Amino acid sequence: MPALEEVLYDALPVLDHGFVRVIDYMGDDGAVVQAARVSYGRGTRRVSEDRGLIKYLMRHRHTTPFEMCEIKYHVKLPIFVARQWIRHRTANVNEYSARYSILDKEFYVPAPQHLAAQATSNRQGRGDLVEGAAAQRVLDLLREDAERAYANYAELLNEDEGGARKDPSWPGLARELARMNLSLNFYTQWYWKTDLHNLMHFLSLRADVHAQYEIRAYADAMLDTLRRWVPMIYEAFLEYRMNASTISATGLKVIQRMLAGEQVDQAASGLSAREWRELMAVLGR
Ligand SMILES: Cc1cc2nc3c(=O)[nH]c(=O)nc-3n(C[C@H](O)[C@H](O)[C@H](O)COP(=O)(O)OP(=O)(O)OC[C@H]3O[C@@H](n4cnc5c(N)ncnc54)[C@H](O)[C@@H]3O)c2cc1C
Repeated sequence: MPALEEVLYDALPVLDHGFVRVIDYMGDDGAVVQAARVSYGRGTRRVSEDRGLIKYLMRHRHTTPFEMCEIKYHVKLPIFVARQWIRHRTANVNEYSARYSILDKEFYVPAPQHLAAQATSNRQGRGDLVEGAAAQRVLDLLREDAERAYANYAELLNEDEGGARKDPSWPGLARELARMNLSLNFYTQWYWKTDLHNLMHFLSLRADVHAQYEIRAYADAMLDTLRRWVPMIYEAFLEYRMNASTISATGLKVIQRMLAGEQVDQAASGLSAREWRELMAVLGR
């Protein structure tokens, strides 16, 4: 795909030291269409009809044709982001070994516009921005802790750049042990390979507003690689997954009653207060 080839191997920057880069890929929009036609028999072949077929597959969750395409990323990411990411079990992962190699002195410090207090309405998210002197104090603490942790890591390793002992009086601690006091904002790296179906599942969860900003930043960069790789599928993905919504059976009845002209409030809706708020947000009310 020419648009994806344009950024193949390029480190697309994410956060302060991270990146996502596409290393390899297999298949395109056509591979999905071709696989779907095996199950539907001989059919139409015009581009407009390919687009229609892809939309149909996406709408009706006919997912296996999307598994015909694969993509491999090289990702550099903070350890706390990696912990969220690794929960997605349907990928193949190979991570940088801090038993074998020494970690670089690179740690994540949020940009000021991402420093926020605990949300009051949502136990999981961020609320108001932390600004001024308080923000400066936060940044100082984050930097000081990481600097100290790395300085102690280096002392425990007791190795200079050529691998010789810095302090000849002791051998230094094994790399697999020396790393354990590093904080979660230090960067790790991995190769992450998945198929298109599972990539879209990952993106639908991690490019979503409910995901933590730091992992969302990676998902947003990957969304752009999806657009370059499989433009028709990307379009259908935005239409039927990312920007779509699932309505519960009770929620659907509420909409039907509203369309029939009835004034429905939360108490009469059969929905919990939270579900009601979510439905009203979807309806833009
Ligand atoms: C906003 C947000 C908040 C979260 N909060 C928490 C939290 O507080 N605590 C926490 O522990 N996790 C949390 N998670 C992680 C979440 O519960 C999932 O583990 C993660 O999103 C991976 O999703 P998945 O299992 O669908 O993905 P994958 O592992 O990629 O799996 C894809 C799909 O494959 C199928 N599948 C894979 N493995 C199995 C299996 N063994 N059995 C059956 N089906 C399988 C499922 O259909 C699954 O949806 C959160 C995720 C998000 C997006």
